[in-house]
Amino acid sequence: MTARIVVLPGDGIGPEIAEQAMRVLGALGLDLDLQQAPVGGAAYEISGHPLPDSTLELARSADAILFGAVGDWKYDQLDRALRPEQAVLGLRKALGLFANLRPAILYEELANASSLKPDVVSGLDILIVRELTGDIYFGQPRGVRILEHGPYAGQKQGYDTMHYAQGEIRRIAHVAFQAAARRQGRLCSVDKSNVLETSQLWRSTVIDVAREYPQVELSHMYVDNAAMQLVRAPKAFDVIVTGNLFGDILSDEAAMLTGSIGMLPSASLNASRQGLYEPCHGSAPDIAGKNQANPLAMILSVAMMLQYSLDQPASALRIEQAVRHVLAQGLRTPDLYEPGTTRVSTTEMGDAVLKALK
Ligand code: NAD
Repeated sequence: MTARIVVLPGDGIGPEIAEQAMRVLGALGLDLDLQQAPVGGAAYEISGHPLPDSTLELARSADAILFGAVGDWKYDQLDRALRPEQAVLGLRKALGLFANLRPAILYEELANASSLKPDVVSGLDILIVRELTGDIYFGQPRGVRILEHGPYAGQKQGYDTMHYAQGEIRRIAHVAFQAAARRQGRLCSVDKSNVLETSQLWRSTVIDVAREYPQVELSHMYVDNAAMQLVRAPKAFDVIVTGNLFGDILSDEAAMLTGSIGMLPSASLNASRQGLYEPCHGSAPDIAGKNQANPLAMILSVAMMLQYSLDQPASALRIEQAVRHVLAQGLRTPDLYEPGTTRVSTTEMGDAVLKALK
């Protein structure tokens, strides 16, 4: 069956890296229907909105969405609702993308790029599964009120509400257990159940779901300890599952273990496995149009798309192996360049991956 893929290149380096990703997709010999649409600042210029209805409809009808990056400083003065970054939030909401998967892989060849000692991180391969649509970021009530009683009476107080329903916890737990079953079979659930009611329900619900996955070894960790262990002994983790707030922080921490923002793909999935795949970095306006951007995070996002939404694990593996091959050859875009390696442009890196695929 033909897989429908919508490519949303976006702004800045988005179109440059999306082009390389499409070349790689085209070389796999798969039955694909590829369509492109504007998003972010590029869409605002054409239609006055960062996520036009036509783009959203196309995205809804797709099996998977490949998203480049959005944003530029020139849009900073716009109303919040019209800023390019709102397109990502709008797509997440409209498509119900509740599961965010962020691998943090440190290829042996790039071990020096990390700020940690090479022996602590070399060969690192962990996956963080973050719940994306609930938690304190979306909980009601929230706001700023005037306190009537107590030592701060008369002053403003900001407040937010953390909550998770059992169903929300269960569905993200299933995604994480299934991912762990395909990997080394170890899942660590991160919470703060020594303090938070929400976390106590989180923990007991994850334990409940675990009965369906006897092949996966489940452990639990408080979030403060997890933050420490990620820099102390990150290779001890296989898959981590956590809520929106803790996941926001831990996934950025894990990303930095690899030291190279241009290498990190991500996936956001909904209940029917429709997904949005994008690099973790932004639109990098400082290097846009210079043919300097590292396209590998975007190309690795294609591999995630093949694995999680299109059920093509063999093609995903081919891409991952091609990326390993070009790194082993010593090819580096400027963000990863170090003496003794060969500096290449965005398009040259794309050429090299294509060659390695063949
Ligand atoms: P950024 O990730 O765009 O850039 C941070 C630094 O990393 C820059 O020096 C940049 O040149 C470099 N960099 C990023 N990706 C790279 C790549 N593939 N190859 C080589 N170098 C790379 O973050 P920022 O500068 O804080 O934000 C720039 C714009 O991107 C802002 O408008 C921001 O809102 C937006 N943004 C968008 C997304 C998204 O589209 N999902 C995510 C984050 C930021």
